[in-house]
Amino acid sequence: MTDLRELYQQVIIDHSRSPRNYRELDHPSHSAEGYNPLCGDQITVYLEVEGGVVKDVSFKGSGCAISKASASLMTAAVKGKTLAEAEELFARFREMVTSEHDAAVNEEALGKLTVLSGVREFPVRVKCATLAWHTLRAALAGEGERVSTE
Ligand code: ZN
Repeated sequence: MTDLRELYQQVIIDHSRSPRNYRELDHPSHSAEGYNPLCGDQITVYLEVEGGVVKDVSFKGSGCAISKASASLMTAAVKGKTLAEAEELFARFREMVTSEHDAAVNEEALGKLTVLSGVREFPVRVKCATLAWHTLRAALAGEGERVSTE
């Protein structure tokens, strides 16, 4: 278990140091800003949705390693997915990070997002990990204004 944890830690550090899809989109069809006042994480998510499919997704922002890594992993996970699939992934992700620390994790469904399962042991960190997802959802819902985890 310790080895697995170290591996997860490395993936999180990698994604926070060199986040994937870290840029603005030129012509986003959707975007929203998210803010986690508990930690000071700030993020803007940009999406290009066409025919119900996430054609492109990116983010910019500043915050802790968890929030950045989670946003990076999220963009990689939802790119190319349908909106329904993205929504399902969010539901599974949220379930994972808010479940009991020894609950089983559906690795098959969550893929790389599994590396963030450790945050469920740190309730304060859950908001850092879900910020990008809440912001994604706000962008898709067309809520242009800033969303807050509080
Ligand atoms: Zn944070």
